[in-house]
Amino acid sequence: MALVAEITHRCPLQCPYCSNPRDMAQAGEELSTADWQRVFAEAAALGVLHLHLSGGEPMARRDLPALVRTAAAAGLYTNLITSGVLLDERRLAALAAAGLDHVQLSFQHADTAEAERIGGMAGAQAKKIAAARLVVAAGLPLTCNFVIHRQNARDVAAMIALAAELGAGRVEIAHTQYHGWGLVNRDALLPDAAEVEAATAAVEAARAVHRGRMAIDYVTPDYHADRPKACMGGWAQRFIVVTPSGRALPCHAAETIPGLSFPDVRGLGLAEIWGGDPAFLRFRGTGWMPEPCRSCAFKAEDWGGCRCQALALTGDASATDPVCDRSPLHGALPALIAARAAIPPAFVYRRPVRQS
Ligand code: SF4
Ligand code: SF4
Repeated sequence: MALVAEITHRCPLQCPYCSNPRDMAQAGEELSTADWQRVFAEAAALGVLHLHLSGGEPMARRDLPALVRTAAAAGLYTNLITSGVLLDERRLAALAAAGLDHVQLSFQHADTAEAERIGGMAGAQAKKIAAARLVVAAGLPLTCNFVIHRQNARDVAAMIALAAELGAGRVEIAHTQYHGWGLVNRDALLPDAAEVEAATAAVEAARAVHRGRMAIDYVTPDYHADRPKACMGGWAQRFIVVTPSGRALPCHAAETIPGLSFPDVRGLGLAEIWGGDPAFLRFRGTGWMPEPCRSCAFKAEDWGGCRCQALALTGDASATDPVCDRSPLHGALPALIAARAAIPPAFVYRRPVRQS
């Protein structure tokens, strides 16, 4: 089991595919240091093994070393998911001394101008590259993450080459998920079949080159598939997400689902939330499923796909994910791809979060 702690929505970047909600938590609403420390202790007691420190940009919190120290002392494996732009030698040393286990560094592109156009931050790429070198020099394992879409999918070979040059042990090439800001920007981001094929071919070629030295993960594009992914390993089965203001969710985008209210970790322990909260029980397992999922042999493998994607595409969070070719609405996806504008529209950038 894993806990995704979105410790802040603050971030110097403005990626148009950011998974944060459009209505982001302001700095003054964030959980305190003591709140997070209690949540980490409760997570460890519940059997959570992995802690993903995420955001926003988690380095925007000055108390990050104290949070890492508490998590490490509780026996959690700590993974920092960062843009790298706030990471310097002094701050990395503090995190390493606190017991940080792993760093996942996000890039927008291998090309500097394109990376900074997509991320909406001038000067970001040099800071990211410097951060990656510091992580490797400190002896911490590094994963480089690239989110891909129609505006960079033909450049995957250069992304993987950059990760290898930086000394990453793993690179993740992940097609955009159309939730949060990604849904707002879908027409500017959604690739066509040729762009997906180019990205897939580049991943396969690079795997042959880097085998045994660097692992290459590829998160495939939902809209081009015939079978859905087991979103988050199944609703409330492997992940708990806690937002900056303390709401516990089964996945990042769950708050988009109308009619569900999510518990606040300030009022309820994680064990109670996990074991009995109605929102966590709503789509857990297979009992909630409609046809065709209910009588399908794959229902305990993909758990009916993604509830938030079903909502975004059908208006009904309890529908079969239309990515599945058994869904009566599967035909809407090729139509959506075919209907995208020939020239991508301008990005709607993720807005910055006020500091107080
Ligand atoms: S996706 Fe971009 S804007 Fe969103 S938190 Fe990550 S770096 Fe910041
Ligand atoms: S019908 Fe439902 S359970 Fe079966 S493959 Fe499709 S989404 Fe998965």
